Amino acid sequence: MKLQILKTPILVKPSSIFNATKQSRLAPPPRSLSTLYRSSRLQSAPLSNFGSGFAGSGTRKFKGGAFVAMAAPGSVQKPEEEWRAILSPEQFRILRQKGTEYPGSGEYNKFYEDGVYKCAGCETPLYKSTTKFNSGCGWPAFYEGLPGAINRNADPDGRRIEITCAACGGHLGHVFKGEGFPTPTDERHCVNSVSLKFTPGTD
Ligand SMILES: [Zn+2]
Repeated sequence: MKLQILKTPILVKPSSIFNATKQSRLAPPPRSLSTLYRSSRLQSAPLSNFGSGFAGSGTRKFKGGAFVAMAAPGSVQKPEEEWRAILSPEQFRILRQKGTEYPGSGEYNKFYEDGVYKCAGCETPLYKSTTKFNSGCGWPAFYEGLPGAINRNADPDGRRIEITCAACGGHLGHVFKGEGFPTPTDERHCVNSVSLKFTPGTD
């Protein structure tokens, strides 16, 4: 149902899009839908660009999960000095300089509220609370990230796999596989609390 609604403004002619937009003003759609229409209008603003840009990137973005406000990979790039200015010293040390918080010290280590964990640097949603589990390792542990939100890179020593926020490149921690935890993936995303910002709710 939602997908069909989403496809409509992308595939139809520009005039139909504006009609749809007017209708949405008369009968306000749910919040997610109104967000979609807003972005449709934004993207369609330069009428001469209707051809390729509108249908192309728009389609991918909506299919990729517009409802979680996902930031595109690499979309939140800043000079390190700018990060230093907006992050706390501890956030900068961990997110930008790949530091590690002391085990057992993080505010989300033994925290199990319902919600979403976002990147502390750029606020891109990274993990759902439903994927958090108690690993006993001293850091927050998740068995999977939100689709496309997390990048993996081998550490220089070749022994561990670093995980970073795909949008801003901020260091999150490391991912380990095959440890035998009874989770759907048998993976453990071992994440610094400092790299995360919890938002309550079930969305
Ligand atoms: Zn980020």
